[in-house]
Amino acid sequence: MTWQALSMTDSTLPTDAELKKRLTRLQYDVTQRAGTERAFTGEYWNEKAPGVYHCIVCDEPLFSSDTKYDSRSGWPSFWEALDPSKVEMKEDRSYGMVRTEAVCANCGAHLGHVFPDGPQPSGDRFCMNSASLRLEKDDGETGSDDT
Ligand SMILES: [Zn+2]
Repeated sequence: MTWQALSMTDSTLPTDAELKKRLTRLQYDVTQRAGTERAFTGEYWNEKAPGVYHCIVCDEPLFSSDTKYDSRSGWPSFWEALDPSKVEMKEDRSYGMVRTEAVCANCGAHLGHVFPDGPQPSGDRFCMNSASLRLEKDDGETGSDDT
């Protein structure tokens, strides 16, 4: 093995038991069992606030609101990942279809699917589940400190 493999920090990722406790049933089902939330039911499909969408499991920043767009699919859709190395693409042959599954490159959480019918410049549509994401909104307010 290379030094890269040795330096991986898998031990900092939450365990299955921790996830079961921390995540809602839907969040767990989507991220750990490649489930899909029902269209137009998620928290973020119609979210327009600026910010960064993090992985619900490991908190890695994955998408920016700058690349979010209204795909009218009922799921939060992006035309690009924050960093291509953060979202891993896998071939998914479930349900008799060939689709591209998108997973968090850091923890392996299922995020959604990528379709080739997105807007330019990328032409990709990252069709994500709200349940896989946590939006950290840009703080537009003037900094008020609690102390
Ligand atoms: Zn993750």
